[in-house]
Parts: sequence; structure tokens; C-alpha cells
Amino acid sequence: MRLILLGPPGAGKGTQASAIVKRYNIPHISTGDIFRMNIKENTPLGKEVKHYLDAGLLVPDELVVDIVKDRIKKSDCKNGFLLDGYPRTIKQAEVLDEELAKMGTKLDAAINIFLDTQLLIERAVGRRLCKNCGATYHIKFHPPKQQGICDKCGGELYQRDDDKEETIKKRIEVYINQTKPLIEYYKNREILVNIDGSQSIENTFDQIINALEK
Ligand code: ADP
Ligand code: ADP
Ligand code: ZN
Repeated sequence: MRLILLGPPGAGKGTQASAIVKRYNIPHISTGDIFRMNIKENTPLGKEVKHYLDAGLLVPDELVVDIVKDRIKKSDCKNGFLLDGYPRTIKQAEVLDEELAKMGTKLDAAINIFLDTQLLIERAVGRRLCKNCGATYHIKFHPPKQQGICDKCGGELYQRDDDKEETIKKRIEVYINQTKPLIEYYKNREILVNIDGSQSIENTFDQIINALEK
């Protein structure tokens, strides 16, 4: 199964990705997680991309496409993968299509999770991540059993720098201008699956599985 997840910031992509990859036993490739890890470890890439993430802007295509091209060629992607947060521009989508064509394969589905803006802001503002394993929680909608502590590994929870209301609004604007056109792109390729992201985590997952397995 070769899948991509589309949707505005806070729609629930990362949350659904964790459940989807478990079901299909494929790697979860999140370009946002890759950037955050590089920033945390202060690598050359991390230094180069930090100000884009802080400002809520997209990292330039040149810095993203090679990372993904290399990643999908790794042996663990032999039976598929789930890309979460890539592609975010038409250019990135074209590079992905070309690369998969060279490998003699193609995407099976583009899962588009949609949600209205007010809920997106509420979700992103309340989002908390585990410093240690990256698991995602929400202070109101998906709280950990013990406040501030990860259920899975006991790690400390933190708030992303770019999950402040002003930056989220900027990211939503960037999504509308640069990423939303991908919906049309994948619709034309007849692999678009639209999912109502306003439902519960479980219901949203059921919608995805029903669409993929019908
Ligand atoms: P969210 O899950 O809220 O949509 P991500 O974790 O996917 O956010 O991305 C966080 C930030 O990382 C983005 O705002 C952007 O700066 C950068 N980023 C992640 N993926 C890409 C990409 N494919 N192209 C450009 N920038 C990206
Ligand atoms: P994205 O990767 O699209 O930015 P996340 O998966 O990180 O989104 O989810 C954003 C926030 O909303 C997180 O705090 C997450 O726990 C919460 N969340 C995700 N899905 C749902 C849902 N269906 N209902 C309520 N809250 C959700
Ligand atoms: Zn954890």
C-alpha cells in the first residue's frame, strides 16, 4: 500500500498515520517529524530549515524532495509506505510521481482529511507531543492518563513552537495557497479519498479503512 495523507495542519494526519501504518505494517514517513528531529539535533539541515518552521512557512522544495526520494527507496518501503505531510506543493507531487514511475510503481491512494478552520485551530493549539517517542495527544480531545506524561513511554510532553495561534493561522493560509491545489491534482488521477476529519479518532480511522478496502 503506497499512501499519502493530505490535509490542513491539525486535521489529524499524524494521529491517523500511526493507526494506518500499524494496520498495513508500512513505515510512517513524516517530513515534519524529520525536520523537527534535525532541528532538535542541530544538524546542518536543521539549521537551514528552522526559520521556515518557526514562521509557519513551507521549507523550499529543493530541501524536501531529495529526502523523500531517498527515503522511499529504502528496503523497508518495498511493500509500501505512508507519507504524512508530503507532498505539499504541486512540484513535490510531480517529483514523487516521477520517482515512483522510475521504480515501476505508483500511489494507491491520496487520503484527504478535511476539517473547518475553527476546529483546526482548536486542535493545533491543544496539541502536545512526547519528547521521547513523538506520540501525539490533545489537552482536551485526547489527554494522556497522567497530565504532561506520555502513556506509551513515560516521556515528557511538550507543545510545538509553531502551534501558537498566530503561526497556525499562517500555516492554514499557506495550506490554502500552496497545498490545497493538490486535491484537484489527485482527483484528476482518480486516487483521491475524502475523509471527514471532524469525527472521533476511531470514526475517522474507520472511514479511511472502509475507503481503502472497499
Ligand atoms: P502539520 O502536521 O501541523 O501539518 P507538519 O509536522 O507536517 O505539520 O509540518 C510542520 C512544518 O514542517 C511545516 O509548517 C513546514 O514548515 C515543514 N514541512 C513539513 N513537510 C513539508 C513539506 N513536504 N514541504 C515543505 N515544508 C514542510
Ligand atoms: P496533523 O498531523 O494533521 O497536524 P494531528 O494528528 O497532530 O494533526 O492532530 C492535531 C491535534 O488534534 C492533536 O492534538 C490530536 O491529538 C488531535 N486530534 C487528532 N484527531 C482528532 C479527532 N478525530 N478528534 C479530536 N482530536 C483529534
Ligand atoms: Zn512517548
